[in-house]
Amino acid sequence: MKKKAIISACLLGEICRYDGKLKQVNGVLEAFKEYEIIPFCPEAPLFGTPRQRISVIRMEGKNKIITDETHEDVTQKLEEEINNFIMKSLHPDIIVLKSKSPSCGFGTTPILNKKRELLMYANGIAAEIFLEKFGHVQITDERSYEV
Ligand code: SF4
Repeated sequence: MKKKAIISACLLGEICRYDGKLKQVNGVLEAFKEYEIIPFCPEAPLFGTPRQRISVIRMEGKNKIITDETHEDVTQKLEEEINNFIMKSLHPDIIVLKSKSPSCGFGTTPILNKKRELLMYANGIAAEIFLEKFGHVQITDERSYEV
């Protein structure tokens, strides 16, 4: 039976980024060619592509996901989308995420204050939920596979 890898869909070449640009990372495709790939993108199914940017804003001690232009709090929508995905994605062997994304970033996502000043770099909302639900699974990002 093949090992399973959950991989951020934009790294696989899917046009699902907010700006509609290609972000395929060939090193990721090469590294996981023997795996069963489970593409993951929580934003595109909810908000379409292209879409306005979202950011992680620290408010009252919690990280919230807020749209940049309309200032809508989409945290709950994303949480539901990610949890629905997890319910269907049993037993991954590894998770490879896109760095710096408000959803997928693993230790690399800018966390802003209400004035949109940088507070720190930490996990995006999906990386945080994956850590909680798949704590025993290796989580990494595309930087490990770039050549
Ligand atoms: S970084 Fe994550 S949420 Fe953003 S386009 Fe890629 S897979 Fe989708």
